[in-house]
Amino acid sequence: MQRVIVIGGGLAGSEAAWQVARQGIPVVLYEMRPVRSTPAHRTGNLAELVCSNSLKSLELTSAQGLLKWELRELGSLILEAAFQARIPGGKALSVDREKFSRYVTEKLEAHPLVEIRREEVTAIPEEGIVIIATGPLTSDAFARALQDLVGEFLSFFDAVSPIVDAESLDFSKLYWKDRHGWDHESYLNAPMTKEEYDRFVEALVSAEKHEPHDFEKSLGFFEGCLPIEEMARRGPETLRYGPLKPIGLEHPETGGLPYAVVQLRPENEEKTAFSLVGFQTQLRIREQERVFRMIPGLENARFLRYGAVHRNTFIRSPVLLLSTLQFRKDPRIFFAGQITGTEGYLAAAAGGWLAGFNAARLARGEEPVALPEHTMMGALFRYIATSNPRYFQPMNPNFGLMIQIPKHIRGGARRRFLAERAQEALRRWKETFLSASSTTSVLSED
Ligand SMILES: Cc1cc2nc3c(=O)[nH]c(=O)nc-3n(C[C@H](O)[C@H](O)[C@H](O)COP(=O)(O)OP(=O)(O)OC[C@H]3O[C@@H](n4cnc5c(N)ncnc54)[C@H](O)[C@@H]3O)c2cc1C
Repeated sequence: MQRVIVIGGGLAGSEAAWQVARQGIPVVLYEMRPVRSTPAHRTGNLAELVCSNSLKSLELTSAQGLLKWELRELGSLILEAAFQARIPGGKALSVDREKFSRYVTEKLEAHPLVEIRREEVTAIPEEGIVIIATGPLTSDAFARALQDLVGEFLSFFDAVSPIVDAESLDFSKLYWKDRHGWDHESYLNAPMTKEEYDRFVEALVSAEKHEPHDFEKSLGFFEGCLPIEEMARRGPETLRYGPLKPIGLEHPETGGLPYAVVQLRPENEEKTAFSLVGFQTQLRIREQERVFRMIPGLENARFLRYGAVHRNTFIRSPVLLLSTLQFRKDPRIFFAGQITGTEGYLAAAAGGWLAGFNAARLARGEEPVALPEHTMMGALFRYIATSNPRYFQPMNPNFGLMIQIPKHIRGGARRRFLAERAQEALRRWKETFLSASSTTSVLSED
């Protein structure tokens, strides 16, 4: 029987190894800790949570809650461990981090089909089925091997702009226009007067920033990806000559040229979510809400993703991956976790689940499959495999990724509709691709 090699024993790699073994396929899991650590990990445990111990909301009508429902339905080891290590956390799933990662480690160590090797991998195996899950802090030597594999499509830090929910915008203050006149509906514009712009810049430069981790302090920024507050600090006019440039954006009704313009780019065909162009930022979350809601039309903006700039090793997945998480050029190789450009613990586990499931299929001589696009997991992997590579930055699970949403369903009803549709889609998919024995839930009800 062909065995599967998993590189990296974090959230994604641990889940992947479990799903491979669960299908009766032998797996070798390489984890370099504790022999060699990363700047953020502290232990030698598999699936260590490097920062927060919260796995976020459990409510089905939130994106994170729906993702948990799906992972649970699919028999995820990471979610099983989270419930085993659960501590009181209200509507969020919070865990005892030590108990959580020990549970995952012990389950994998005890599985007869899993062999764990504590060593750093420095080259991509030339043969066999391989899952790469080395995470945001991939070791330097392996990053060099990856660079040989994917060339310019490997990044070492992210520059993420916030995404807001279209339903929360005041469209009476916004207008559609593309400064080059190419496509009328490619940008939504928020015009600012001089007073609004000056107040905005002042708030931006004085807002509170995230304290970077020690290993991020030396993070150099490329000029094209400077945090918006850094740009503003260079001088009061800098933004007007950068991302808030008004040239070509005369108001369609008045014909007047605004003093400055914030541009919003649709994130999907239905235009249910918009990213703020050029707004990568290190501001704290509550400061992003306070300052970015000063933009006309965004006074009540609901944030689907917050902006960020981190040290983060990730590939440009839309160029490189299929939505089965296979590497297009060499489909025996899968990628999973943060390295594919997903964001967050459970998104990484979800990637691990799909890569592990598909690697086992491939080992049995079956075709890998994608998840239904109406599920949160399917929508996320569809996004990373098919979104516009030019603007690709790490993405968290959120309802803005969902497609084919009937226009008349809004607000809470929309979230309920999307959650129910996802549940139905996953149940149907399971009937086709998961045998009854492997779908038995490993979790008890909470
Ligand atoms: C400082 C920091 C703070 C974060 N805080 C949060 C947070 O609060 N909430 C959240 O949801 N997400 C957070 N994240 C993102 C978080 O890393 C991911 O959500 C999640 O851990 C990604 O899972 P992963 O499996 O892709 O990577 P990881 O969990 O990092 O796993 C990758 C594993 O690969 C191993 N490895 C690397 N290179 C090699 C090699 N060459 N050979 C063998 N093994 C190797 C590493 O030791 C590691 O165990 C944070 C990230 C960082 C860097």
